[in-house]
Amino acid sequence: MVDIDAKVKEITDLINGEVYKDDAELIKKAYIFAERAHEGQKRLSGEPYFTHPFETAKILAGLGMDTQTIAAGLLHDTLEDTKATEGDIQKEFGDDILFLIKGVTKLGALKYRGHERHVESLRKFFMAMAHDIRVVIIKFADRLHNLRTLQFVPEIKSRRIALESIEVYAPLANRLGMGKLKGELEDAAFPYAYPAEYKKVEEIIKDKKDSYEKNLSEVQKTLEKELIQNKINVVEMGYRIKHKYSLYKKLLKYDMDGEMDIDKIYDIVALRVVVNTVEDCYRVLGIVHSVWNPLPGRIKDYIAVPKPNGYRSIHTTIFTGEGGVAEIQIRTQEMHFEAAYGVAAHFAYKEQGHHKKAKTADEKNKFKWIEELKELKYFPDDPKRFINHLKTDFFNDRIFIFTPKGDVIDLPDGSTPLDFAYAIHSDVGEHTFGAKINSKMSQIFSPLKNGDIVEIITRKDSKPSSKWPEYVRTTIAKKHIKSYLEKNSLLSRLKSFGQS
Ligand code: MN
Repeated sequence: MVDIDAKVKEITDLINGEVYKDDAELIKKAYIFAERAHEGQKRLSGEPYFTHPFETAKILAGLGMDTQTIAAGLLHDTLEDTKATEGDIQKEFGDDILFLIKGVTKLGALKYRGHERHVESLRKFFMAMAHDIRVVIIKFADRLHNLRTLQFVPEIKSRRIALESIEVYAPLANRLGMGKLKGELEDAAFPYAYPAEYKKVEEIIKDKKDSYEKNLSEVQKTLEKELIQNKINVVEMGYRIKHKYSLYKKLLKYDMDGEMDIDKIYDIVALRVVVNTVEDCYRVLGIVHSVWNPLPGRIKDYIAVPKPNGYRSIHTTIFTGEGGVAEIQIRTQEMHFEAAYGVAAHFAYKEQGHHKKAKTADEKNKFKWIEELKELKYFPDDPKRFINHLKTDFFNDRIFIFTPKGDVIDLPDGSTPLDFAYAIHSDVGEHTFGAKINSKMSQIFSPLKNGDIVEIITRKDSKPSSKWPEYVRTTIAKKHIKSYLEKNSLLSRLKSFGQS
């Protein structure tokens, strides 16, 4: 006999902070409903099917998601795989949870088959996200558990699932700033997607880990002393080992002649210093550089200029003597938390008691919408209102447009192919001659719709006309066109002046 309360506690124990009675009851109710619905069904591993939604719910709880999402995680396969109907779920759990489960079920119908499918599934993901971002996060958790049990799946299928996870799921998680989940998805998929390469990377790590760690522990000891002397409060200091798949990708980048060169990768093991304030981050950086010499060109200030997905931290690589190098990452607790959980972090603010400060938006940021997501500071303690805000005010005035290769450009609603062209590059914008929307020749000023695939046709002799400013919505396109027109009218005036 399984003790249901003990199993429910396995889930609620993963929730950060106090768990209210209502929340625990909702989770228990979903647990009982889903377990019954899946009764008699088995996973390929031979385990009861319910182990899968159960583990999915645990992943969601660990990500700090709200109770509705955890409950929907328990129920996520009931519509598709059991006799439970939409009516049953609506009656027992209400419209919100039903909406989440339906969303996950729809996303599940996608199968990855080559390039076209890739674009299509990305597109569906963005659509789902525009409705309720929690649908996508449940799908991530579902996928992560499936990846972790992939050894029971036939090889041809497991490879497809693994590749899709690396090519579609992980980049999306990354775009949402969910670094921890992204790393876990990739590492779980890696051995099935690229078995030989995986083995190689594992060997490299086994080979080098100990010496790197030893080097770093010396650095840590010295730094700890220095920071105490300088009266800097350290919240946390320790090393992290690079995720295997991201190490592999980095090796590929440096791999010019077929041999992986591990000595060019400085951050296999990095020392992480978490402090209280941004000011302290810079003080720590100063102290680090006064003790060790930094490698030129390796100081990265992602606090002043965050990565497009919102990642903030300072990285520097130092010479530790005797030919050794080490990477040090410096950040605040808040940055540390956001780097791991990204968008999901906002659901956990209730428990974490975080207070967000306004920061200046980075105008150059192509994926500014993630920054905007991260800046939803007005109601940190109410996940429900946060979600509603996402649905109504935020995503609805943005559209996601795809390049033929499947890259996503986000633009304000009402944008045209000209905006899209300038968003890719001012050079492309300036020489826009025509545009294909979803493979059909179209006007360069027809308004785009969410999910359109746009191809820009350029010609060397094409140039902005005085009408163009009327055809664009984005400030960046307007700015470029105006400056081009001003420059050229000036030039032509100068020319005519010279001729007269
Ligand atoms: Mn599932």
